[in-house]
Formats: sequence, structure tokens, C-alpha cells
Amino acid sequence: MINYSAVPSPCYVLEESRLKYNLEILNKVQKEGNAKVICALKGFSFWKTFPLVSKYLSGATASSLNEVLLASHKMGKEIHVCAPAYRKDEFSQILRRASHITFNSFSQWEMFKKETLKKKVSAGIRINPEFSTVGVDMYNPAGRYSRLGVTRKEFKPMLLDGIEGLHFHALCEQDTDALEAVLDRVEANFGEWIPKMKWINFGGGHHITRAEYDVKKLIDILKKFHKRYPGIEIILEPGEAVGWQTGELVSTVLDIVRNEINIAILDVSITAHMPDCLEMPYRPAILDSAMLGIKKYTYRLAGNSCLAGDIAGDYSFDKPLEVGSKIIFADMIHYTMVKTTFFNGVKHPSIGIWKNGKFHLVREFSYNSFRDKLS
Ligand SMILES: *Cc1c(COP(=O)(O)O)cnc(C)c1O
Repeated sequence: MINYSAVPSPCYVLEESRLKYNLEILNKVQKEGNAKVICALKGFSFWKTFPLVSKYLSGATASSLNEVLLASHKMGKEIHVCAPAYRKDEFSQILRRASHITFNSFSQWEMFKKETLKKKVSAGIRINPEFSTVGVDMYNPAGRYSRLGVTRKEFKPMLLDGIEGLHFHALCEQDTDALEAVLDRVEANFGEWIPKMKWINFGGGHHITRAEYDVKKLIDILKKFHKRYPGIEIILEPGEAVGWQTGELVSTVLDIVRNEINIAILDVSITAHMPDCLEMPYRPAILDSAMLGIKKYTYRLAGNSCLAGDIAGDYSFDKPLEVGSKIIFADMIHYTMVKTTFFNGVKHPSIGIWKNGKFHLVREFSYNSFRDKLS
């Protein structure tokens, strides 16, 4: 249990024991499902924890040269790369470190085929199942006109020479029934080419570490897939499931103002430090709070930027808030620090780890960090 009064504000704080718990579940999937689980850096790049992550997982998925370098410097193990398009001027640096590389189109494969084969990096092609049960368009990689992956209509079997893998990614925070439905479509559209492959990547979006997720069912799906396609290697690349509920964003009330309602201004910004709350949008959970009007004292919680909409929502509490009250945003480790900005120059939350009953500060941001992002 984190003692939040020992944590500076603002700060993202990860509890190591909770990360271990997730990694053990993911490792069980690897072992019992005979699959590789790798960490999608897009969702979880908390590299101070990578020595621990790499004890359990098989490597990382990178989507850019920067992520490739991070995986190479901080994780080691296998580096799988998957991006919408590669730049010519970065490609050789990526290849030098990659074990597997997925091309988003046959034109990119044609462009980089020679170099890839020469470096003996295992090449794959991303396919678009044109089916997904993701409800939010912003997070649906298989929606109409999606640029992500080759559709059956655009698939060019005569260009598959040298391709060893297929990759699909069509889930977002989903369960095994969604995976089964997508897998059905993948096999219906691309099934004839699966036996010719060495590996197939089932992408991310598997909410494996969420309490209600049916891990046994996932293992069963993997086993059955192995039976249908003997000898193929299965790869899963979750990001969110690695960091799911492993820590919080600690913030503090700086002022309480009134404009018909009570509004608490925090030392964090929703748009700068929890951008998915506004992008998706969703209401972040806050420890010891309830919906508007349920508990006795209700406040609108707002960020410390000049954006009018920099608001988390209306929350109620048992006790009145005061200047200095701690507000703890739950589950703020995945997709937060990888997406933060220095908008308005708002003080960037520090990064820390709670481990063996103690707080360990691992990063602070200063004026220099802000200045050096600009010019
Ligand atoms: C985003 C993404 C992932 C990780 O998704 P999560 O929802 O974080 O599990 C994996 N693979 C690809 C190709 C992605 O775009």
C-alpha cells in the first residue's frame, strides 16, 4: 500500500508489487498458451521498471526509432517493430536492432525488402481484418478507411516471398470474446496464408490483467490456434495490460474557487498529464470519491492550465476539500507519461516507484526540461 503523504506532488507513482502481479499473469499466458508476450512501449514506457519487466516478458514492441532505441538500451531481449510507415533515413538504424519488423503495406515492404532480408530481420505484413468491436472510432484500427494494415482486397499474395509473419491489431481494452470474433475474421480472410508463416502477432488491446478478464479462456484460444496451425509462433503485444492499475497520479488542491459551484484547482493538468481523459473521453477514478452529490461535499476538479476545458469532472467527498488536500487519480501509469506535454509550462509530475514500503523518486522535471523541448 502506497503511503501518499510520503509522495511529492505532483507525481506519477508506480507500486512495484502491482506491476509484478501483472507480469506474473502475462507470464502464465506465455507459458501455458505457448506464446510470446511483449510490451508495447506506446502504452508503457516506464523504463526504470524494464529490468523487472524483462525478467518476465519476451521483449518489446516499438513503433518508432526512438522506441527502438529505448527498447535496445533499457530492455534488451527481442525488439519487434511495427509502424504505419518507416522513414528511409532511419530504417538502417531500426534494422540493426530489430528482431522482427512488420510492414503496414506492400509498398513499404517492396521499398525495404532487400535491406531487411540482407540483415536477416524477420519480416511481417500487417493485415486489416476489417472487423472490430471497438466502440470508439478514435481507437478502432479496423474501421472504414483505416490506414492500419492491408485489407483482403489490397492483399498481394505474389509479393509474400520473404514474409515470415502476419500481424493484426484490432482490439482496445477488450476481452477474449472480442479476440475470438476478430480471429474468426482473420482466418476467414487470410487463413490460407497462415500455415506458410513462422509467426503471427495478435496485436495489443487484450485486457489480460483486468480482474474480470478470462485468462484461462485466452490460454485455451491460444492452444486451439496452435492445434489448427501447428508450429506457428504466437505473439501478443499488450501495452495497457502491463501497466494496468499499477499506480496513481498524486496531486494537490492549490485553490478552491466558486462560480455557482465549488471548483478545486489542482497542481496537475488533465489535458497535459492525463490527455486520454479528454481525448477518449473518460472520467478518471479518484480515490475516496464518488459521483456528483453522492457524498456530502461536491467539487468540480480542474487543471492548472488556461484551457477552459481542463476539467476532470464533478466528484463528491466525505470531507470538505482544502488547500493542500491530496487528490489521487487512480490507474494513471499506462498511456499517461508517454503522452504528456508541457502545455502552459505547467509543472510536470515527477516519476517515482513505491517499493519495499518506501518511495523512490526516479525523475523530476525542471525548467530545463521545458526549455529544451522548445527553441
Ligand atoms: C497500441 C498498440 C498496441 C498496444 O495496445 P494496448 O491497447 O496498449 O494493449 C499493440 N500493437 C499495436 C500495433 C498497437 O498499435
